[in-house]
Amino acid sequence: MDFIVPHMKKLFLIANWKSYKTTPEALRWLQTINDSQLTIDSNNKEAVVCPPFTLLAQMNWFIKTNNLPIKLGAQDISPFGEGAYTGEVNGKQIKEIADYAIIGHSERRNNFSESDELLDKKVQMALQSGLTSVFCIQNEKTPVPQGVTVVAYEPVFAIGSGQPDTPESANRVAETVKREHQIPSVLYGGSVTGENVHDFTQMPSIDGVLVGGASLDAKKFMRIIENS
Ligand code: PEP
Repeated sequence: MDFIVPHMKKLFLIANWKSYKTTPEALRWLQTINDSQLTIDSNNKEAVVCPPFTLLAQMNWFIKTNNLPIKLGAQDISPFGEGAYTGEVNGKQIKEIADYAIIGHSERRNNFSESDELLDKKVQMALQSGLTSVFCIQNEKTPVPQGVTVVAYEPVFAIGSGQPDTPESANRVAETVKREHQIPSVLYGGSVTGENVHDFTQMPSIDGVLVGGASLDAKKFMRIIENS
């Protein structure tokens, strides 16, 4: 008799700190994680923190020194490589200290006029640099560039509002994106908390969450990791 072994999906739990935290605040957040002796089964879960650029190097040092089970990501990436591009941080520079880059967050599309064409260039730079892009879409019609392996579905109404999408609706979008673009991992983002995370991660097509507000508090983020 054949037994079907259920495929255990790997969950991504990604913190987006946006433009929050100074160095002492970031180090206190990490110290709370360190004090709690957080353990993560890396076969089943990947926890990633995406702080502002100014914090990445010092956080990387703290994480390595204390052997914390947390990866780092940037919140953006230059569409160009090394060169005369004042103000930009390129993929090679990010790869020295991080493994992920969030690309196409609605706050960047809306406040910085980032176009689909520009975002495509950023994804290609992430790929060339060996970074995994976490590509944000606002609905199933948002174009997804070639080479993306992790998509985050983040409906604008749910971001920072305390009004998440329903798990069923998020799952439908995730299913469509996986089918139409052959994306292995689709996450949900928008007002995720320790209380509602499992409602999303238990859905068959959802492979994790992208968390803004609740990730700023180390204890709340750890609860999200635990409850997922
Ligand atoms: C986000 O910024 O990606 C986000 C999902 O924010 P929040 O969790 O605060 O809704």
